[in-house]
Amino acid sequence: MPEGDTIFRAARTLHRALAGKVVTKFETQLPQLARVDYDTPLAGRIVESVESNGKWMSMRFSGDLTLLTHMLMSGSWHIYRPGEAWQRPRVQMRVAIYTQDFVAVAFQVPIAEFHTRESLSRQRSLRRLGPDVLAPDFDEAEAASRLRARPQLEVGVALLTQSIMAGLGNVLKSEVCFASAVNPFRNVGSLTDEELRSLVSNAREFMRSSVVETSGVRRTTGRSDPYARLWVYKRRGEPCRKCGTLVKAKKQGEDARITFWCPQCQPIKP
Ligand SMILES: [Zn+2]
Repeated sequence: MPEGDTIFRAARTLHRALAGKVVTKFETQLPQLARVDYDTPLAGRIVESVESNGKWMSMRFSGDLTLLTHMLMSGSWHIYRPGEAWQRPRVQMRVAIYTQDFVAVAFQVPIAEFHTRESLSRQRSLRRLGPDVLAPDFDEAEAASRLRARPQLEVGVALLTQSIMAGLGNVLKSEVCFASAVNPFRNVGSLTDEELRSLVSNAREFMRSSVVETSGVRRTTGRSDPYARLWVYKRRGEPCRKCGTLVKAKKQGEDARITFWCPQCQPIKP
């Protein structure tokens, strides 16, 4: 699943390529979008901005129309020059937006909706999003209090709950828990204030540094060696970088997302 930082980067790339440009052609395989395009054509509108909000991406057009997409597991946005071959088959195309210099193509996005400003404000999933961990005005105290409000959740599940804090994904979840020396299977209710603050601020820091990396490479250990970039993620059975204990892995939560941790550095009972 793409994490919030991947979507942030995709939105930034699309914004640089498309903002201020006139749409010359619009294609879609989604009937609900095609209907809106038929009634109120996209061609001729100006792309005003492309922004991410947690794992949502919104592309705003002149004349009060916004295309909202969510990647879930499978979706992605690509950008091409006109005439350039696409890297994925055309049957996977859901939306294609053409300007004079670029073509933005959404492949297999499971959620794509057109909105006006008014319908956007009523969109339930967006309204339920917690503070966006990548937003310039990210409110750490608000994220901490939303965590506090769900004491029964396991930490590893809570960090992925987008109504608590939006944008963090499965790779950085394990890394954040390790950096904060918190066992991901503890309940949120067992956390001290300091542990809670540490989780939120590490989430922010890892996400932000990952966005700065132009390569898209995630790095939490501060090391440039490609085999030493992460503390625990995908390191099951390998020695912990701090204490040498073997890293463990287990599926967690209803969605069975895999979690990695060091049983020595992140004990269940601190
Ligand atoms: Zn360790």
